[in-house]
Amino acid sequence: MSATTRHPLTEYQRRRHFDRTTEPSGQGGPRGRGAGDGLFVIQHHAASTDHYDFRLEVDGVLKSWAVPKGPSTDPRDRRLAVPTEDHPLDYAEFEGTIPAGEYGGGTVLVWDTGGYTNTTRRGDAAVSMADGLARGHVTFALDGAKLTGGYALTRFRGGDHEAWLLVKQDGEGADARRNPVSTQTESVLSGRDLDEIAADAR
Ligand code: MN
Repeated sequence: MSATTRHPLTEYQRRRHFDRTTEPSGQGGPRGRGAGDGLFVIQHHAASTDHYDFRLEVDGVLKSWAVPKGPSTDPRDRRLAVPTEDHPLDYAEFEGTIPAGEYGGGTVLVWDTGGYTNTTRRGDAAVSMADGLARGHVTFALDGAKLTGGYALTRFRGGDHEAWLLVKQDGEGADARRNPVSTQTESVLSGRDLDEIAADAR
């Protein structure tokens, strides 16, 4: 999605029917978490194509990428991250099942969430998340239940088929033997797995 959308949530709202999905409408106003520079959330989304939605609070919205294989704790892994439309901040607490036939139809689980700290620099100067994203490179430290420490997001292709890479940085939280996407599948908000969330929605 274009980062130049006039109102950041226009694209989010255009794609959804809020009388059919229980996702937040984005009219509720921002509710940041205040930990570090903002909140992050990673949602496991069992849609037509299974993926993880990686979201970072930046300037009052959740900047979002779809990560097909999910995040890694191994600094040697490079995970494709495809930008999607900005989401409202209260989406960070959304779990449930989006009806089949609606945009994003499928079950959503909050796989990890917490605060993050922007560590993006250019030479000696600190760079804001917004500037870093516009330039195509940000680094940040996560303080989540499953993921901690530094990650980098780097744009490697622009234009209509923009694509980024999500890479773990060495140091805190780096561990080539962990594979939390496979071994820690439950929701950090509710403890439920995808089947339980889907069953509860029915
Ligand atoms: Mn998704």
